[in-house]
Amino acid sequence: MSLRLFIARPLPGTVGETRRMVHVFPFPPGGAVPTRVTAFCGAEFGPTELELLDVPRGMPCEMCLRDMPRPDDELAGSS
Ligand SMILES: [Zn+2]
Repeated sequence: MSLRLFIARPLPGTVGETRRMVHVFPFPPGGAVPTRVTAFCGAEFGPTELELLDVPRGMPCEMCLRDMPRPDDELAGSS
């Protein structure tokens, strides 16, 4: 079973520009939209506070990168 992840960053205006880091989140089970989502670094956001990203861009959250699981089967080999 593979863990699905998504990446997102706070929308402009919700936090200061220097804090708009790209966080990594576990995909909510069952496809339900949670009222709050928690990144691997522990940062919490409401769904309306986040800009979902298809590809990593901007400044990554180093704590998320360090603490996230490594789904080799999903991230490896992308061309
Ligand atoms: Zn983070």
